[in-house]
Amino acid sequence: MTSSPAHAIRRIGIYTSGGDAPGMNACVRSAVRSALAYDLEVVGIRRGYQGMIEGDLVEMDAKSVSNILQKGGTVLKSARSTEFRTVEGRARAAENLRKAGIDGLVAIGGDGTLRGASVFYDEHQVPLVGCPGTIDNDLFGTDETIGYDTALNTAIENIDRIRDTADAHDRLFLIEVMGRDSGFIALNCGIGGGAELVLIPEQLTDMDEVKRQILSQMTGQTRSSIVVVAEGDELGGASIISDALRGDPAFAHIDLRVCILGHTQRGGSPTARDRVLASRLGSAAVDALMEGHANVMVGVVDGEITLTPSRNVWGRKKSIDYDLIKLTNLLR
Ligand code: ATP
Repeated sequence: MTSSPAHAIRRIGIYTSGGDAPGMNACVRSAVRSALAYDLEVVGIRRGYQGMIEGDLVEMDAKSVSNILQKGGTVLKSARSTEFRTVEGRARAAENLRKAGIDGLVAIGGDGTLRGASVFYDEHQVPLVGCPGTIDNDLFGTDETIGYDTALNTAIENIDRIRDTADAHDRLFLIEVMGRDSGFIALNCGIGGGAELVLIPEQLTDMDEVKRQILSQMTGQTRSSIVVVAEGDELGGASIISDALRGDPAFAHIDLRVCILGHTQRGGSPTARDRVLASRLGSAAVDALMEGHANVMVGVVDGEITLTPSRNVWGRKKSIDYDLIKLTNLLR
C-alpha cells in the first residue's frame, strides 16, 4: 500500500465517476465536511474525469452540500470519459489540477473509476483515495459498495409488484436486474423477493435444467413463477433466455413475460444503510489522505474501515457467497 510521511495537503478535489449510485451525494457531503474540519480547501470536480480534463471545477463549502444527503444521483454529475483513457487526456487533467492548486483527490465510483485513478496516480502521483460507489457491489476490498443496498431494495420492491400480477394471470416472469459481470443484486433480490430461480454469472446456467425447474414449478396449484436473471449471466440477459424458452414446444402453453428493471435500480433516495456507509467512507477517505495514503480505496470489511491498494480492487474478483446459492435452491 502506498503511504508517504504526512505531507501538507491543503486543497483537495472530489469527484463522482462512472455509473451513478444512490448514496454518492452522502459520500460527497461527508468528504467535504470532513475535509473542512481539517481546514482543507475543497473543490468539486464536475462530471468525473471528463470535468477534470475540461477544468469544470467548483469551490465547495459546508453549505454547498446542505440538503443533498437524502438525494439520489450526484450533485457533482457523473460521466464516462473516453479521453481520460488516453495519455494526453490524463496529462490535460493533471495540468488542470496543478493550475487549480489541487494536491489530493477523493474519487467516488466503481472499478473503472478506480482503475483510471490508479493509472493516473502512476503517471502523475497526485495523492488519491477512492470510495467504492457502484450499485453492482463488485469491488474487492469492501463488503458493500455505496448504492448497492438501495438498488437491492428497489429490485425487491419491484419483484413484489410483479409477483402480484404474475399470480393474478398465472404468468412466468423473467426479471432482469443490473450488476454488470456480478450476480450480487440478482442473488440477494432473488432470495429477498422469493424468486423460484436465480441465474447469475458466477454459476453456469444449464438451459435444460432451467426448463425442467420452471416446468416443475408451474404445475398443479402454482401456475406463476419468477426467475431473476442477472444482466451479466453468461447465457445472456432475460430476453435471450426468454427466446430460448419460447422456442421450446413444452413452453407453448406458458404465458411468459420479460421485465427489465434497468435504470430504476440506479435512482431514488438512498437507504439508511447506504447513507451511513457513504458517510463513513467519505470521511475515512479524507482521513486516509491526511495520513499520507495514496492510490488506495477505503472500504468496510466486517464493520471496520479498511484500506486496499487500488490495483487489488480492480485486479481481483470479489467472490459471491455460495451458501446463498444453496439457500435459493432450498427455498424455491
Ligand atoms: P460502474 O461500476 O457503476 O459502471 P465505473 O466506475 O466502473 O462505474 P466506468 O465507466 O467503467 O464506470 O469507469 C469510469 C471512467 O473511468 C471511464 O469513463 C474512464 O474515463 C475511466 N477509466 C476506466 N478504465 C480506465 C483505464 N483503464 N484507464 C484510464 N481511465 C479509465
